[in-house]
Amino acid sequence: MWRVLRPDSVAVLGDELIRSSLKRYFAVMENKLPARFQVAKRVPVRTDLGSETKKLWRVHEQALKRFRKLLADIDSGRTKIEELEKPELSLLDLKIELSRRILESCHFCEWKCGVNRKAGERGACGVGERSRVASEFMHYGEEPELVPSYTIFFSGCTFKCCFCQNWDISQFPENGVETSPRTLSSLVSVHRREGARNVNWVGGDPTPNIHDILAALNVCEENVPSVWNSNMYLSLEGMKLLFATQDVYLTDFKYGNNRCALRYSKVPRYWEVVTRNHRLAFADAELIIRHLVLPEHIECCTKPILKWIADNLGATVRVNIMNQYRPCYEAKKYEEINRRITHEEYESALRMAKKAGLKNLGT
Ligand code: SF4
Repeated sequence: MWRVLRPDSVAVLGDELIRSSLKRYFAVMENKLPARFQVAKRVPVRTDLGSETKKLWRVHEQALKRFRKLLADIDSGRTKIEELEKPELSLLDLKIELSRRILESCHFCEWKCGVNRKAGERGACGVGERSRVASEFMHYGEEPELVPSYTIFFSGCTFKCCFCQNWDISQFPENGVETSPRTLSSLVSVHRREGARNVNWVGGDPTPNIHDILAALNVCEENVPSVWNSNMYLSLEGMKLLFATQDVYLTDFKYGNNRCALRYSKVPRYWEVVTRNHRLAFADAELIIRHLVLPEHIECCTKPILKWIADNLGATVRVNIMNQYRPCYEAKKYEEINRRITHEEYESALRMAKKAGLKNLGT
């Protein structure tokens, strides 16, 4: 049925430019290669999980190097994942231990609240120790290469965007149903077997739930591409935990400067954090970047974002320039964004992308 509803999701299979920018994603989706988290489970780690945190991060760095080597061997056909034993302790086990420690003085994102979520404290996102799922379903509205996408919406967010379309999920972390990693994993497996091309972790934002997402991947036996659908406001440690576990970073690049980020999403140091994390994500895995065009924000946001992407990530990275902005939630308090974008604004954004040299555009 979805093939009829979204014929572009079939046509995309023959699009060479998109396939080449998401080469590994397509191979995992078609079960020709293992998902990166499945490879991370095969990387042995020799350490005592009771060691001090600094030592565990050092062990993590070394294990990441071995992960990259193993991934290259698997991708080139030199090694077959089925022939590898599951080690007693893996890179993914180590990441889960580190994530549980971060939860005690939370710094998954750049707010670095330092609260002990295990002891019931809450930080800026309001998310507790256990993840809450607001909804989950096969999503047919994503980019054609992702559809159908098994999408899990977590309650809570690290941003407070005044125009959030999902504000009932993102700004109410107590909503939804507490869901264990094992249940998440079962849901992912069932939907993969029903034809999902990937699992798509979103919210709100998935960042406050890193610990449970890693734990879910650890018990998931299904080969499924993992998609990190996020505002990318993670801390450096948060990013490191994701390395070697995600196949695609599906990023939401909103603002071209800190002033607009502070005004509309109430977050400081946006540009430094989000550009750093885009660089890290691009070095780690594959990338689809979304940019939602905001009214009156072509020069201050759209233009610098598109130029930065072309200058730093290259002309062929996949970029989706989105025109579906509508003033939701509290956007009416900000006169300049209290309307949809005009046809001219969108055309201007597309011209800017082409002028910047970007070739792999979704529109
Ligand atoms: S995820 Fe971010 S906002 Fe939430 S408690 Fe941790 S550091 Fe704070």
